[in-house]
Amino acid sequence: MFTASNFLALHPVNASNTISLEHISHKLLEIKFINKQEATWRFELGDKFLSYITFLGCSPDIELSPHPSKPYSYITLSSTNNIQFHSGKNIKIPHCKHCKKSLDGSITLLKNNPIKQPINCLHCHHEVDILRLNWRKSGFFAHCAIYIGNIYEAEAVPTESLLAKLLEISGFEWKYSYLRQPI
Ligand SMILES: [Zn+2]
Repeated sequence: MFTASNFLALHPVNASNTISLEHISHKLLEIKFINKQEATWRFELGDKFLSYITFLGCSPDIELSPHPSKPYSYITLSSTNNIQFHSGKNIKIPHCKHCKKSLDGSITLLKNNPIKQPINCLHCHHEVDILRLNWRKSGFFAHCAIYIGNIYEAEAVPTESLLAKLLEISGFEWKYSYLRQPI
């Protein structure tokens, strides 16, 4: 089974929001965003997938169904009891909102001591609210996420109608990021 290394990830705007995998998978099946289950919480693309995701290039060359020898797209749902940090090799380090300098050194602290504990900017020593940092679509904190495999950075975006459906299904707002994994 193909494992992608580039993902378009959909995730709640507010990191503390969460939804059960049973509920969201049921609803995503209903709107035909996903199709049958390929593995644990991993699904084939639904028949309406292309009406919920807009490809930005002129002719995207992506496989929409499982293929024995070529990379293809699929959807994985993830949910954890604790808020987790999701990122990849393409991570863009945020800047401190007080001194505008890169938080690169502080991010190491964050990775070793995941969240809830505030961190301090190593340059100006102001406390940084890690749940409000701007990762420029390259990382996020969340309880739950929808990963679309084999989509490269900025290759495709969710449509307004998909974001509206996710709001309707979950009761909270969603946004998106791109991750190149493993880290
Ligand atoms: Zn600073």
